[in-house]
Amino acid sequence: ATPTALLVGTGRGAQLGILIRGPEVLESTRKVDTVVLDKTGTVTEGRMTLTGVHPADGEDRDEVLRLAGALEHASEHPIARAVARAAAERVGELPTPEDFANVEGLGVQGIVDGHAVVVGRPRLLADWSQHLPAELGRAVETAQAAGRTAVAVGWDGRARAVLVVADTVKPTSAEAIERLRGLGLTPVLLTGDNEAAARAVAAEVGIDEVIAEVLPEGKVEVVRRLQAEGRSVAMVGDGVNDAAALAQADLGLAMGTGTDAAIEAADLTLVRGDLRAAAEAIRLSRRTLATIK
Ligand code: ADP
Ligand code: MG
Repeated sequence: ATPTALLVGTGRGAQLGILIRGPEVLESTRKVDTVVLDKTGTVTEGRMTLTGVHPADGEDRDEVLRLAGALEHASEHPIARAVARAAAERVGELPTPEDFANVEGLGVQGIVDGHAVVVGRPRLLADWSQHLPAELGRAVETAQAAGRTAVAVGWDGRARAVLVVADTVKPTSAEAIERLRGLGLTPVLLTGDNEAAARAVAAEVGIDEVIAEVLPEGKVEVVRRLQAEGRSVAMVGDGVNDAAALAQADLGLAMGTGTDAAIEAADLTLVRGDLRAAAEAIRLSRRTLATIK
């Protein structure tokens, strides 16, 4: 089922574009005390750009971009789009990979021009015994400390480069989080990205609690764990990998700019993808309840 009615026909709810699944949703807004926010695409724009290429000693920058770009061209991930776009601009036409595989929450792998290529979290490369040399490890640390995401590139058994991508925080996120706090909710940032990058984004928008490096199937477990601690949880997300967590949450809110899977799993849809609408939805529902009583 899809959300059917506007939270309120006129006024702020309609203006901000808030869709509600049904009247029973209102009740769950009363007791929520924690709001879990997905990072990429919810707190941030989710449109990444490639800001750095760090080849290991002796590796060729264009070859790194060509092989990584070819592989990422086959993926829909925001990181993949950024890498493929930059690679195509730099080296022109990209070869078509064979045996392409997406390793959810970790990266991609496949054969490009006869090379077995891996692009993703350093952990994914480590699974193939490709460990980052010291100079690449430093590039990763520098990028992460600045709130950026670093992914490693390896082929034929060796780590060859680090790519750095940057996302921007939505201009409305900090204000939205302040309003959620004003409603008595504690914000928690949840992401598959690394801890340092997540901390940098959290600091920028005013969130203290960060749960990072969570695999896609782990997001629902995080919501369950918070509930087991006695917290009543609202979850805001946009991705396919947020759907199970949105369904598990006491109140699930989907970004209307996100995937159909997230929207279908949620109780409320924020049509314009503006996080301030999350605070407004909770405020309006509570007020509606107060009026009915
Ligand atoms: P998020 O929770 O922020 O939406 P994901 O769960 O989609 O992140 O991905 C987690 C991490 O896995 C990314 O930060 C990245 O390091 C790595 N990753 C996933 N897919 C890709 C890809 N196609 N290319 C490179 N890295 C990837
Ligand atoms: Mg997301």
